[in-house]
Amino acid sequence: MKEKATQICIAVLVGAIICTIGISAEDKPREKKVDSKYFVHDETEPLPPVVAPGKTDDQPPADAIVLFNGKDTLAWCDGKGQDTKWIINDTGEMECIKKSGYIQTRKEFGSCQLHVEWATPTDVKGSSQGRGNSGVFLMGTYEVQVLDSYDNITYADGQAAAIYGQKKPLVNVSRGPGQWQSYDIVFHRPIFKGKTNEVVRPAMITVFHNGVLVQDHWEIKGVTWHKKQSAYRYHADKMPIQLQDHGNPIRYRNIWVREIPEIITR
Ligand code: MG
Repeated sequence: MKEKATQICIAVLVGAIICTIGISAEDKPREKKVDSKYFVHDETEPLPPVVAPGKTDDQPPADAIVLFNGKDTLAWCDGKGQDTKWIINDTGEMECIKKSGYIQTRKEFGSCQLHVEWATPTDVKGSSQGRGNSGVFLMGTYEVQVLDSYDNITYADGQAAAIYGQKKPLVNVSRGPGQWQSYDIVFHRPIFKGKTNEVVRPAMITVFHNGVLVQDHWEIKGVTWHKKQSAYRYHADKMPIQLQDHGNPIRYRNIWVREIPEIITR
């Protein structure tokens, strides 16, 4: 009997403690999140938009703009706005034709998330910068180098996944010649002071090469130039994305982009 009374007392005590904790949690003043008009766990904060993902992570999500999916090159033109001379080969890949010039998107982009897949020639020719050279130019201005960097020595800031002439990749994660490789790029455009060459916010870039982080939110120093220290030159808020013709038959496939809103509600 005495033992049962003790058990009841313990149960009542535990219940009282739980009850007390519950009340104190409810009574705790709500705190605002840092740099936000919302409280922590605020149920009035709007939920993010629902976006259907791709079937696999390399496939475009529902809100992406597909730039190339093997069917046509309608999203692209040459530097003068004319139809590109790059071809779609028998296996549905877009291939650079020597001396056809850069190609660029007809639509213009600023800050964006960009997925690009590319392959250098299986038949290895040339060396250093002459071997499988192309490039992805954000805003037609800032190059993420495309190069066959598998067992191919060149200068560090000119190998695959380098910000050309400015920043070598963190690692060389290149696949061999002819194999498909991917870039997943997060790019924030520069913001200029009026229409001057001075930036109030430099461009920032993050790059994953074959799924591996190779550029970590790095501050771009300016326009991509050859053998010259970089600097910013004023340009519009949105510009075409370009792919480089460097004289090598580089192939591209599965290219899609998502625009990043300039104003982000926290
Ligand atoms: Mg290049």
